[in-house]
Amino acid sequence: MRLAAFCHNGAPLLSARLGPATTAMNSPEHPSHFRYTLSELPLTNRFASLPPAFHTRLSATPLPAPYLVCASEAAADLIGLDPEAFDSARFVDVFSGNAELPGSMPLSGVYSGHQFGVWAGQLGDGRAILLGEVPSPQSPTGSMELQLKGAGKTPYSRMADGRAVLRSSIREFLCSEAIAALGIPGTRALCVIGSDQPVIRETVETAAVVTRMSPNFVRFGSFEHWFWNERHDELKILADYVIAHSYPHLADHPQPYHALLREVTQRSAELVAQWQTVGFMHGVLNTDNMSILGETLDYGPFGFMEAFNPHHICNHSDHQGRYAYQMQPRIVEWNCYALGQAMLPLMGDVDTVKDALTVYQPTFEKKIGTLWRTKLGLETEQADDDALVRELLTVMATGRVDFPVFFRRLSNLKCDDPSADAPLRDLFINRDAFDAWLVKYRLRLRLENSVDEARKIAMNRVNPKFVLRNHLAQAAIEKAQQKDFSEVKRLHQILQRPFDEQPEHEAYADLPPDWAASISVSCSS
Ligand code: AMP
Ligand code: MG
Repeated sequence: MRLAAFCHNGAPLLSARLGPATTAMNSPEHPSHFRYTLSELPLTNRFASLPPAFHTRLSATPLPAPYLVCASEAAADLIGLDPEAFDSARFVDVFSGNAELPGSMPLSGVYSGHQFGVWAGQLGDGRAILLGEVPSPQSPTGSMELQLKGAGKTPYSRMADGRAVLRSSIREFLCSEAIAALGIPGTRALCVIGSDQPVIRETVETAAVVTRMSPNFVRFGSFEHWFWNERHDELKILADYVIAHSYPHLADHPQPYHALLREVTQRSAELVAQWQTVGFMHGVLNTDNMSILGETLDYGPFGFMEAFNPHHICNHSDHQGRYAYQMQPRIVEWNCYALGQAMLPLMGDVDTVKDALTVYQPTFEKKIGTLWRTKLGLETEQADDDALVRELLTVMATGRVDFPVFFRRLSNLKCDDPSADAPLRDLFINRDAFDAWLVKYRLRLRLENSVDEARKIAMNRVNPKFVLRNHLAQAAIEKAQQKDFSEVKRLHQILQRPFDEQPEHEAYADLPPDWAASISVSCSS
């Protein structure tokens, strides 16, 4: 398919004003110096300036008798919001959708997408409402959009109720903030507001609203929407908006759309490499859940790898295992191709699109190679590193070895003292195979004169001791369902420092209890 060449005039579609100049006051070195009260938050909404076909202006549906479940100081800090606001009735009103901030221009956006590999047609923000954006000097775009998820029906709700349940909102909150603390790009979560309003899923649950933050919530599916509806003018408007808003360094590029696709592909490849090496499984990698910024987006039936199994499927609704752990890199690449297809009219020919996508494999391989080496405490790059990693993963898979526990314990290895290997070997049932791997690993460490103490420190900086295991989330959710939010708060705090020892929280780093095997996480949320 050949389409007319696009004409890009290089002019930003929309004004790029970011509101008050807070940069100097709220730089990463001085994160807490600048504080807005809630009513001072300077909200604008650049997405609202897109033509009406892109969104529907609407207000959230009121949530009866809302209450604060949890809030993130780190997320508030990103937008300079004084966490004292958390305790106010106004905070609960604003982030339940019951009251509007000055400057707020609430709207829901339209998008489409491929779900489980099949074109699903129009989807859109069926339960999400974008309030607008606020300045955020620490954000790569200088701003953060605020979005309420679970705030009621929208024109894109289809047959669903526009709500989110407390269970899934707590999971999204905890995981968003945990992923950020792990140093992985992802949308952030400011707070969860609950209500006793019943919501029907497999059982009757209660409603909640999670406030998410991201520089930009545009998805691959937002591009696909205009492509598959043959609305190429809107496709160009969207691409120009994304470039002006989130990729301003590409605005003057001679081939801006090629450069955009290439950079999104690159970021997505790096993201999935980070997921693989920390053991994160997204669960629903549909194109409508793929961020144009290369961030982790839409936390639903996600999971963290525990007993290592490359075929593990964390989403019980994923019967084919399309989104199993080991499939993720291929699926993210598939999704990039879907984006490339959608951007074809902007680039004019298939070869240009393909050229942009070729960056995926080398980027992914380079990134994942570096990350595995870092996890193993290796400083140099050697020809057989890949084989060393592959062999380790095979041995771990055979023994279903706990992923976080193993890498954390591996940091205690003494290069010249195998007699101290017991805690590590105890994790394996197939000890001969593991011993054979250990011999190779020790040789590899000696090759680069690795120093035990220094390696341990370096490894513990990248191998988290604490991840959001399903049973930990489940215990916090069950208490929260009884109106006790203390465990959500505790878990949130622990996951803020995933690499620290935190000896007082040793139990949170333990292997999962037997009952964890019965936890079922599905698309129902
Ligand atoms: P997800 O599987 O959560 O990524 O959602 C896929 C699509 O379904 C998106 O358009 C969502 O907005 C929509 N959706 C999911 N749950 C609901 C709900 N309870 N009410 C309205 N729309 C929903
Ligand atoms: Mg989604």
